[in-house]
Amino acid sequence: MIKSLSVLGCTGSIGTQTLDAARQLGLRVEALAAHSNIKLLEAQAREFKPRFVAVYEEEAARALKRALADTEIAVASGAGGLKDAAEHFGDCVVTALSGAVGLRPTLAAMRAGRRIALANKETLVCGGSLVMARAKETGTEIIPVDSEHSAIFQCLAAQGDRRCLKRIILTGSGGPFRGKVLAEMEGVTPKRAIRHPNWKMGAKISVDSATLMNKGLEFIEAMHLFGVSPEQIEVIIHPESIIHSMAVFDDGCVMAQLGVPDMKLPIRYALTYPERAESDVPAPDFAQLGKLHFFEPDLTNFPCLKLAMDCAKFGGTASAVMNAANEKAVAAFLSGETDFLSIYELAYEAVSKLSSPGQSSLEEIEEADFETRAFVRARIREERGREQFLIEN
Ligand code: NDP
Ligand code: MG
Repeated sequence: MIKSLSVLGCTGSIGTQTLDAARQLGLRVEALAAHSNIKLLEAQAREFKPRFVAVYEEEAARALKRALADTEIAVASGAGGLKDAAEHFGDCVVTALSGAVGLRPTLAAMRAGRRIALANKETLVCGGSLVMARAKETGTEIIPVDSEHSAIFQCLAAQGDRRCLKRIILTGSGGPFRGKVLAEMEGVTPKRAIRHPNWKMGAKISVDSATLMNKGLEFIEAMHLFGVSPEQIEVIIHPESIIHSMAVFDDGCVMAQLGVPDMKLPIRYALTYPERAESDVPAPDFAQLGKLHFFEPDLTNFPCLKLAMDCAKFGGTASAVMNAANEKAVAAFLSGETDFLSIYELAYEAVSKLSSPGQSSLEEIEEADFETRAFVRARIREERGREQFLIEN
């Protein structure tokens, strides 16, 4: 079992739960990284005494450096600090930060031979081919933290031989708007969108769960992680979130991993793999549950899922463009600058205008990401200008 960690995104939902697990499992925390929440980061640094802390935002990094002046902890900032936290510390790097910014540090950690506990699905959505090629080249183990992928990973670990994997069935709860049609989702507020029925998560992934973009991102994540084609992945809506996903083998047998919907389970599995450690999470009470339900996903009223499936088939930079547009649009929705249904429209428009086919380098992916963010920003500004004009006239 691994002994030490570097936690990227330590102040977020997955990051704080990872530190809870580290405390319980007695794992040493060698590095911590966050964007700007230095209040929590200082408390975490004082408790876990890492050697290194990275704060992405420069001003916040300076403030934390002053606050930790009485300790031996080194504080760095920007993309360089984040990369250093991934490259030089911990047997295992937990990528619990949100967004495409996770790609470079993950590649750096792999080059340095560190195990990856991967929560940051955007890394594989944007640079899946590059990441999986580097994993092969360096012999890096990537242990998924995302519950669906952890489920498939556990099924494959139990089976022992990946070659007889025929298909993957990804389950999804359907999110807070399951059963609704587009017209009913017009005008939903951020507060309403992030109220997920089964999981408590960060704001961005909660909105992604409401649009089903999260399932789309997971579709692409699964394709890369398990080396399957889009045609080998099926998405099924399972509102109870008890079956976390399933693997179908060549002989027609299906293996599933079950558990209560609690991220503690996949986080602990990623940290203790290939072992399992005692935890206080109870197994599901099946008699109490009575029934489990399964439905086809509604691709008409949740077009983000269909868009992601199409991007997976198209290849090239399509997934990176979709992801960047989605990140920008979700941030704009959360800050009240655009509405819920515009998230899909902006992502669709960006994908159709900016995607290019073929194998892409890291630089090309980053360029597509940059260009897409500028495009979405301009589209939102244009739209707001138009609304303002209509109000005033
Ligand atoms: P949160 O929004 O709760 O936390 C995000 C974390 O990333 C924070 O620590 C934030 O720091 C940090 N961060 C953001 N940008 C940067 C940056 N540029 N440099 C360094 N740190 C940064 O997200 P979640 O924990 O919900 O999700 C994290 C990832 O895990 C996402 O990719 C998500 O899709 C995935 N995931 C999450 C699940 C969940 O249950 N939450 C389930 C499965 C996957 P700060 O606090 O300072 O802003
Ligand atoms: Mg998931």
